[in-house]
Amino acid sequence: MNTVKTINEVRNQVKVWKKEGYSIALVPTMGSLHAGHASLISRAAKENEKVVVSIFVNPIQFGPSEDLDSYPRDLNKDEIVCEGAGADLIFAPKATEMYYKDIEASVSVKELAAGLCGAKRPNHFAGVCTVVSKLFNIIPADKAYFGQKDAQQLAIIKRMVRDLNFDIEIIGCPIIREKDGLAKSSRNVYLSPEERQAALILNKSLTKCREALSNGERSTNLLKEIIKAQIQTETLARIDYIEIVDALSLDAIDFANKPILVAIAIYIGKTRLIDNFIYEA
Ligand code: AMP
Repeated sequence: MNTVKTINEVRNQVKVWKKEGYSIALVPTMGSLHAGHASLISRAAKENEKVVVSIFVNPIQFGPSEDLDSYPRDLNKDEIVCEGAGADLIFAPKATEMYYKDIEASVSVKELAAGLCGAKRPNHFAGVCTVVSKLFNIIPADKAYFGQKDAQQLAIIKRMVRDLNFDIEIIGCPIIREKDGLAKSSRNVYLSPEERQAALILNKSLTKCREALSNGERSTNLLKEIIKAQIQTETLARIDYIEIVDALSLDAIDFANKPILVAIAIYIGKTRLIDNFIYEA
């Protein structure tokens, strides 16, 4: 497995593979890789002959008061994870390689980016769509793998690919969790031991909601109240949002009578964590 840092190098390698007829997968990441990322890479390796992992902390998807500078970075460790999961090539460019100083063009979606995380992070999904479009143009893969952990991102990327006719198949992969239920996240390293314990409230509150759904509750207002009451039992937790939306359109709905996305964002101390599940009524 090789690591390359320039667009030319990754393009040349992928061109050679294409010429030889290999199927190619792309797994876009921001590095600080954990078992969640590894699950995407190993699935990609099972379903394709060559796997490229991009590792790029994309500055334009961070807001001015967000954690761009402190975001964890460890390329050596990431190389070990990638190799272990079956990657063939890492593309790890610098920001100056990816962006001209005077960049004018960008890609965005409208309504899908308006709610959930997009409501609190106004330019985030335009930043994501722009970098993912660039990666799709740099690395013309057959399939790209994204986690359900970032449910809104996955829905947005699928729509962008449909709307702009990108010739790539988007594969969504399930959320990988710690043994105690906390969704794996690169940001979990920010948590103190006490906060790490408190963070279990994300999965606990979603479990309560899932139980209520299984017992027949369909009012999304009531379901949101159930989640809220559970989160409020945790003194270190501060709710950013609790939303129940149509799983495809991400529109708010009153009754859970079609596939829904239950998504929450919570601050534990200064760390913002997200979690979700999809329920097919
Ligand atoms: P990130 O490095 O956070 O941008 O994530 C890169 C990709 O890994 C995204 O498609 C995420 O949704 C996915 N991912 C992150 N955490 C998990 C997880 N716990 N389980 C599955 N996929 C994940």
